[in-house]
Formats: sequence, structure tokens, C-alpha cells
Amino acid sequence: ARAQIGVTGLAVMGSNIARNFARNGYTVALHNRSIGKTDALLEAHGGDGDFVRTETIEEFVAALEKPRRVLIMVKAGDPTDAVIEELAAAMEPGDIIIDGGNALYTDTIRREKAMSERGLNFVGAGISGGEEGALNGPAIMPGGPKESYESLGPLLESVAAKVDGVPCCTHIGPDGSGHFVKMVHNGIEYADMQLIGEAYHLFRDALGFDAKQIADVFTDWNSGDLESYLIEITAEVLNQVDAKTGKPLVDVIVDAAEQKGTGRWTVKSALDLGVPVTGIAEAVFARALSGSRAQRKAAVGLASGTLAAKPTDVAQFTEDIRQALYASKIVAYAQGFDQIAAGSAEYDWNLRPGDLATIWRGGCIIRARFLNRIKDAYAENPELPSLILAPYFREAIETAIDSWRRVVSAATLLGIPVPAFASSLSYYDALRAERLPAALTQGQRDFFGAHTYERVDAEGKYHTLWSGDRSEVQA
Ligand code: NDP
Repeated sequence: ARAQIGVTGLAVMGSNIARNFARNGYTVALHNRSIGKTDALLEAHGGDGDFVRTETIEEFVAALEKPRRVLIMVKAGDPTDAVIEELAAAMEPGDIIIDGGNALYTDTIRREKAMSERGLNFVGAGISGGEEGALNGPAIMPGGPKESYESLGPLLESVAAKVDGVPCCTHIGPDGSGHFVKMVHNGIEYADMQLIGEAYHLFRDALGFDAKQIADVFTDWNSGDLESYLIEITAEVLNQVDAKTGKPLVDVIVDAAEQKGTGRWTVKSALDLGVPVTGIAEAVFARALSGSRAQRKAAVGLASGTLAAKPTDVAQFTEDIRQALYASKIVAYAQGFDQIAAGSAEYDWNLRPGDLATIWRGGCIIRARFLNRIKDAYAENPELPSLILAPYFREAIETAIDSWRRVVSAATLLGIPVPAFASSLSYYDALRAERLPAALTQGQRDFFGAHTYERVDAEGKYHTLWSGDRSEVQA
């Protein structure tokens, strides 16, 4: 037994992370359900470092130093359960099983419980950054027992991305917390992408820019506050010319977005936790709407009403879109961090939001300059009631607010959908409102269901005898 870590599941993610471990000097035991992938990896990249080829789970487990550390990188869902079961049968108390797939956090809670009853350490680790990140440094969000991080942490930290010398990996919290924060990360990624998409839509349809012109705007934005991986790749995608037609690639790609499910999970979880993640939800719904191809085809030609003239001050409108994007992005992150706080309270995880902002600065898809600001905001006040209230973000929105309103109004008058820009602005206006219409909602609920209400001027719950003499009684 000489391998410090084993990787089972050698599709794109697993092989790249196995190579990353090997390049960092670790001896890596390799296993895949079918040997083909193992041999393909060894043939193409065997020179990356020290690998141990194994065919059976027994051989794989025997190749590992104790306590054994195995990273599972197989298809999420039933395959993960099958592999865990096989491994658990071959492993010994104290060994560590790490699930690096995109598992649903409630599955991770269940698996951690089952493994701990068998004396095994189970670590659900969110891994972000796609295949490139897996190879060159992902962001890693390991949950599970704290003790297991002592043996595992140094390995994971050495392969993780680094920003200012700080690894993008830290122990997140118990059981499903690592996969939970990875899920919210993906939800934020959906919102971020949708917001960029809306900005692109406005440039295309409100200002009539072509793909190249829009690419130039994003390239320019990437040197300011919006600097991020997603803005950078947006410019690259928009600059790509299709070899077949000579047109911008973006103009020949079908406009129906797909999804693998983590955004939907984020919204479902937010609904259960009662957290309004409107930006993420709009992003998930926008993808669903874009994919309703038959319905959309039938609806082309529906009345638009009288549309406004296009904006004439191109420079001003461009700056307005930038500000609207930035403010909406602040809202999307604020909502994501609210969900993390709610999950933390619900499951008693003691999550540290500042740590998440720190490890998301590198390796992952939402890496951005912006995250330094979030990290600073939580360092200054770990109990921040909303990210929007941190002085930096509060001022950023103050600067952006007029632009933000102009963009949402212009889009509406031009008939251009901006669900995430608009819902983020509505969220902001609702949050800062002194009186919401919810008082009326409470009155209605009391009317039809005797659900009671509270008064602004007295303690307790009250009910009006709506079907009686309409006097008020204390409930
Ligand atoms: P896939 O999700 O496509 O999974 C393929 C791997 O799973 C193969 O090694 C396959 O083995 C194995 N597998 C499938 N079913 C079983 C089973 N019943 N028993 C044993 N092994 C099985 O691979 P990816 O590399 O794309 O992703 C791996 C994990 O990482 C997934 O959970 C994914 O959600 C997650 N992830 C992916 C990212 C990405 O960018 N792709 C980013 C972050 C996380 P075989 O070769 O024998 O078919």
C-alpha cells in the first residue's frame, strides 16, 4: 500500500483531479468501473506523476495507505450510492470516503449518517471549476467530520486553486454543508449568467450592437469592478466566429438553455427555507422558458404594444447597463448568502460566509474581484443582516440605482425581457420599503381563514369577526 489518495470514476472530472494530485507529488491509486478509462488516462497522462493502476475495488483499497482516502467522482445519484456501498464493504473504520460529485446535500446528510454508523468518515465535497479547474486547481468545499479534515485538508488544499497564496479550500462544516454551499454557488452562477445574458440582450436589441461590439464592451468591463471569469469568457464566446458560416458563433447557437439541475435544487431548497432567492429563481425559470421551444414558436408575433424609441445616448445607456448588472449581481449574491445563513441555522452547521467568499475567489466559475469585497464585508461584520447593508455594497447600489431604474424602465418600454434585472430591483425596493402590502395580505388571510394578524400598536395576535359584527378580538 503506497498511494496517499485513490480516485474512482475517471471520466473528465475524475481523471483531471487524479492528474492534479499526481502533479502535486502524491501517489494516486486509479479505479474506474470499466478499465478502459483507467488505461486511457495512463496512456495519455501516465507521465504526470505516480499512479497505481487497479482493476477491482479490493485491489484499489489495498493500494492505499491507512487511513485510506478515496475520492469518488462518478455520476451523481444512484451510481454514487452503489460505489459508496462497494467501498464501505472493503474499507476499515477510520478510512475516509470523499464524494466529489454534485450530490444533493440531503443525500450527503443521509450518506454521512450511514457511514458514520459503520465507523467510516464520509466527506461530501463540492468541487467547482469544471474540467479545467479540476486539473489546474478547483475550489473545494469539503463538509463532513472535522477530524477527517485534519488528514484530508493538506491534500485538498495542495491541489486547490490559490489566491494571494490562500488555498480555495477550507473545512465547511458537518455532513451535507459542503454540498449545500456548492449548490448555492451553482445557483449564484445561474443568476450571474442570466444577468450577463440580459445585458447582452439589451446591447443587441436596444442598441443594435453586433456580437463583436458587445464583446468589446465586456472586455472593457473586465478591467473594472465587474472583473470575473464569467465576464471574461462572455467576451471570448462573443468574439468566436463560426468556421462554417463566417457568422459570430453566438448567432448560430440555438437559443434554448439547458440545465443539469443544481440551479433548480437551489431554488427548491430556498423555497423550503423560505428565503427569497429571486435572482436565482428568475435565472432557472428563464432557462426553462428559453427551452419551451414549441410554445415560443407559437407565440412569435403576439402583440408588443407601442414600443419606445431606442436609446440615443449610447455611452450613457452602456454605463447604465453596467451599473444595472453590478447592482443586480450584488442582490443575487446577497440572496445566495441569505440562503447559506438560513441553511446553516436550519441544520446547525455554523457556516462562516466570509470563508466562502474567500474560497470562491479562485478555481470556481463565479470567481470574481467582487468576492474580495464580500470577504471584507463579512470580516468587518460577521453578523451582517444582508450583504446589501455592508457599507461598500450599499454605496455601490446608491451609485447604480438611477441607472438600474433607467435600464429596467427602458427594457420594459422596448419590450425586452429583463427578468433578473427587474426582479432584483423589485427585491431591493421591497427590502428598503417602510410599509409593504403584506398588511393587506394578512387582512385577507384573517378574513377568509381566521389566520389572525399582529397590530403595529400592541403585542399579541388579533382576529376581526368578519362574519359577525366585525369587532376585533384577541386570539
Ligand atoms: P459523469 O458524471 O459523466 O460520470 C461518469 C463516471 O461515472 C464514469 O467514470 C462512469 O464509469 C461512472 N459511473 C456511472 N455509473 C456508475 C455506476 N453505477 N457505478 C460505478 N461507476 C459509475 O462524469 P464527470 O466527470 O462529468 O463528473 C463526475 C462528477 O463530478 C459528477 O457527479 C458531476 O456532477 C460532478 N461535477 C462535474 C463537473 C463538470 O464540469 N463536468 C463540475 C463539478 C462537478 P464508466 O466509465 O464505467 O461508465
